[in-house]
Amino acid sequence: MNIIPKKSLGQNFLLDKNIIKKVCDNGNISEKDYVLEIGPGTGNLTETILLKKPKKLYVIEKDKRLIEHLNKKFKDSIVVINEDILQYKFNELNIKNLIVFGNLPYNISSQILVKFIKHNRKDFTFKKLIFMFQKEVAERILAKDNTNLYGRLSIFSSWKFNIKKIMDIEPSSFYPKPKVTSTLLIFEPKSNYIEFKNSNNLEHITNIFFNQRRKMIKKPLNIIFKNPKKVADELKLDVKLRPQNLDKNTFYKICLIYEKLIK
Ligand code: SAH
Repeated sequence: MNIIPKKSLGQNFLLDKNIIKKVCDNGNISEKDYVLEIGPGTGNLTETILLKKPKKLYVIEKDKRLIEHLNKKFKDSIVVINEDILQYKFNELNIKNLIVFGNLPYNISSQILVKFIKHNRKDFTFKKLIFMFQKEVAERILAKDNTNLYGRLSIFSSWKFNIKKIMDIEPSSFYPKPKVTSTLLIFEPKSNYIEFKNSNNLEHITNIFFNQRRKMIKKPLNIIFKNPKKVADELKLDVKLRPQNLDKNTFYKICLIYEKLIK
């Protein structure tokens, strides 16, 4: 195959057959399942997923050169969609309980994750997301409160999903080799989570807190609320704490109060 990988599209193709098999096995795919793969690239993982005989396999790939290659390689056995995943409207697919795989393009991996979190709703849940990130991003996603990596991404990701780390993957498993180690995470939807009027409000609030992560929370509370003392009292918050000292639930509660006040 004569496709020169494009750095701008985060193209690092997974070559290690053992790793590809492990990634695929984590989907627990049965013949009843609908599967979606983000950025199939040259189709290495795609090929392995197909061996599990899912009901249908959709792939979304932005690079036109790869679309041709995928159509030739897989013919009618998969549905190839030539789109930018960040622009894609899931409603077009109109399938619930999708199992989603993605060795994600690393420059936009958190944006892709946020899109999936926003779209996962009580009436439209993904069955599972099996996503690969740069290790450093995976650590931020998994971070607990009171640690330096804890922040917006940890709080947003855990809102609707239980997240588990499967494994690290070394650069030598890819072509071309990325500069950093990768990490495979699996996201399973929580059966219960706090509903917000608008998920942008949670992003807005955590942005304000973590833009100045070393400052005491007194400051962001002052920015967000007309009556910050009342909010601090209601949640029994010590305003001398730093944002990273508040657990995820506290941020969800702050968001609820914010939404009540703005109506
Ligand atoms: N899954 C493949 C390739 C991973 S590399 C493998 O493991 O071998 C990332 C892939 O995402 C590339 O194929 C790249 O072209 C594609 N990609 C990059 N940006 C994209 C976007 N915005 N929408 C859809 N696909 C994208």
